[in-house]
Amino acid sequence: MPKKSLGQNFLKSQDILSNIVNSGNISKKDIILEIGPGTGNLTEKILEKAPERFIVIEKDKKLSELLHKKFRGKIEIINKDILDCYNSFVFNKKVKVFGNLPYNISTKILISFLKIYNLKDKFEKFIFVFQKEVADRILAEENSKNYGRLSILTSLKMNSNKITDIDPKYFYPKPKVWSTLVTLSPKLDFEEMKSNQHLEHITNIFFSQRRKMIKKPMKQLFTEFEKVAKDLDLDLNLRPQNLSKNQYLDICKIFDVLN
Ligand code: SAH
Repeated sequence: MPKKSLGQNFLKSQDILSNIVNSGNISKKDIILEIGPGTGNLTEKILEKAPERFIVIEKDKKLSELLHKKFRGKIEIINKDILDCYNSFVFNKKVKVFGNLPYNISTKILISFLKIYNLKDKFEKFIFVFQKEVADRILAEENSKNYGRLSILTSLKMNSNKITDIDPKYFYPKPKVWSTLVTLSPKLDFEEMKSNQHLEHITNIFFSQRRKMIKKPMKQLFTEFEKVAKDLDLDLNLRPQNLSKNQYLDICKIFDVLN
């Protein structure tokens, strides 16, 4: 019986599974990490590409045992919660991460990876299936209703790409919502700075007052807010959702220098 509490919705369409695998361009030299392999549907497809190393992390003990039986020595199985071990892998090569993610914690998983120091040196690409509503928020641009913290935080370190929407009928059990396959690649020109924590703080201040003019959050963040606004060519009468991702990154950089 699939466990709802662990977000167990298994993919059963071979076409969709192939689409996910192909979105990762796996070569025989790759190190692959899969989050939540479940009964191993995606795992099996990835194995066909014969990556050099293949590690899977599955929280469900029963499913981990099933995977042991099914794949014997072909993959390394870690029976843990991804949120407890996402930052503990050390490899000599950048890793590709796959996952048809458990919906209840998919945003948490993404945010956790975003917080990893020097993400771009450790990870090559993330190939994730999110519930569509979360993917829409990740991919949104300014002046749209889904635009917000998740869009901005993701864009600090990643280029994201929508591959396709996935009908609930391709899963067992059938979820109530549509899903979306997204690839995320760490930005190679991103320099680690204090920005990480700062951008969370800044977007929190802006978006907790979504409908107010940005004058208020700017005032909260900077003593000389009018000068900062002028330097960045920001109209203080705008609303938070009107500022582009780059404008938030610019605000963040100034905040970095001052704090
Ligand atoms: N990849 C499989 C299953 C996806 S369902 C397929 O596409 O068919 C999500 C899987 O994530 C389930 O197997 C669930 O047990 C596992 N899971 C849920 N929470 C987890 C966590 N915190 N850490 C690791 N795995 C988790």
